[in-house]
Amino acid sequence: MAEYDVIVIGAGPGGYVCAIRCAQLGLKTACVEGRETLGGTCLNVGCIPSKAMLYASEMYHEAGTNFEKMGLIGAAPKIDLGKMLAYKQSTVETNTKGIEFLFKKNKVDWLKGWASIPAAGEVKLGDEIHKARSIVIASGSEPSSLKGVEVDEKVVVTSTGALELAKLPRRLAVIGAGVIGLELGSVYARLGAEVTVLEYLDQITPGMDLEICRTLQKLLTKQGLKFVLGAAVEGAEAGKGKATLSYKLRKDDSLHELEADVVLVATGRRPYTHGLGLAALGIATSKGGQIETGAHWETSVKGIYAIGDAIKGPMLAHKAEDEGMAVAEVLAGQKGHVNYGVIPGVIYTSPEVAAVGATEEALKEEGRAYKVGKFPFMGNARAKSHFAGDGFVKLLADKETDRLLGAHIIGPAAGELIHEICVAMEFGAAAEDVARTCHAHPTFSEAVREAALACGDGAIHA
Ligand code: NAD
Repeated sequence: MAEYDVIVIGAGPGGYVCAIRCAQLGLKTACVEGRETLGGTCLNVGCIPSKAMLYASEMYHEAGTNFEKMGLIGAAPKIDLGKMLAYKQSTVETNTKGIEFLFKKNKVDWLKGWASIPAAGEVKLGDEIHKARSIVIASGSEPSSLKGVEVDEKVVVTSTGALELAKLPRRLAVIGAGVIGLELGSVYARLGAEVTVLEYLDQITPGMDLEICRTLQKLLTKQGLKFVLGAAVEGAEAGKGKATLSYKLRKDDSLHELEADVVLVATGRRPYTHGLGLAALGIATSKGGQIETGAHWETSVKGIYAIGDAIKGPMLAHKAEDEGMAVAEVLAGQKGHVNYGVIPGVIYTSPEVAAVGATEEALKEEGRAYKVGKFPFMGNARAKSHFAGDGFVKLLADKETDRLLGAHIIGPAAGELIHEICVAMEFGAAAEDVARTCHAHPTFSEAVREAALACGDGAIHA
């Protein structure tokens, strides 16, 4: 048995960041993780491996489409899936090993195993009980199940199985046009699969700005992805090396079938809190299984905190990281804070999509007077030279005060460009502040400045 100031349960982006910050702030800290490697879903089977597959497939696609236009002539590369998966795995390993190094450097103890909480102040691993003044639950999430669809991670897969397929599917059916469905759907479409995405709603990427959703759908359709919207998947029958999906079109209740070699279930995730002993402790959870937290992320039991995917809010690694740092500050007697109004979201399709703050639809609903500043990447010199003129930057600002309320970008490096607006919003900036900031030429970020100029007297290059 050991005694700590803080034990963090889970070493995903929320948990490991929280543990490192606790240690940096002088607290004796341990982090429990049952996986063989640190980093949680994000580093092991989520964000990081999918980014490697997105990058590899993008390079393959680029070689097949744009190389010749740039005078790069030669045989098009062939796909060696085994080697591609090995590259993906090595990316995962360098990152997970990196967290192990950071734990050692910051003197965070890694307690290996799956934890439960027998009582406030106690964490149990196997037969051992460790004591802690505070416990932080950062146990993350798992793919949610879909009635009538049984996952075997071979033919019917979640994102985990989709990142280690034994062979490239000829036909991939994706259930759900959310972030996972579109990112992994893009990977396999670029690697040559016929990809059909079935989505329950009448639009893709629910919650995003509608204009962005429509543009993204148009661009992905051009890349060969097929979309069936308003389609409720009701079951999947897996046979030898293929599966048949049955779905109902909501507009007329008609039943349809779709055959595929692989089916990706990407219909959302749910908090992973099995085995922690929440009910026995009396920790309140919502209907969806999220742990309820009050001020400063404390649960209904004193001394037990929760962060990340296990609580409410977007299931994003960076939201969990911010909560992890904030809780560490609270536990060290400081004032931890997260500005939930400025949490960016990125979809790593090609082109990328990034957003922060309010959508146009939300502002309309709120009855807020706003203005829109838009600029197409077609007017951006660097984007054009990269064959990346599709998409635009859209800024939303208060009509009276010009204060930035939201940004929605679809185009090259959108996931990087969005942070200029995040910083501006954190400082309560007006669109004019961005417009009057000198931006280097030629850069993609000039498109952001031009959109800010469009909120005022007008963009120059549009
Ligand atoms: P999601 O919630 O983004 O999308 C799920 C989609 O499935 C929704 O559009 C929903 O309408 C649809 N759906 C649900 N049931 C259906 C049915 N029976 N038939 C047809 N469609 C159905 O979920 P996800 O894509 O699985 O991602 C899970 C979580 O992981 C999300 O919170 C996401 O933000 C996060 N994530 C983020 C990133 C990123 O930030 N780039 C990457 C991967 C995952």
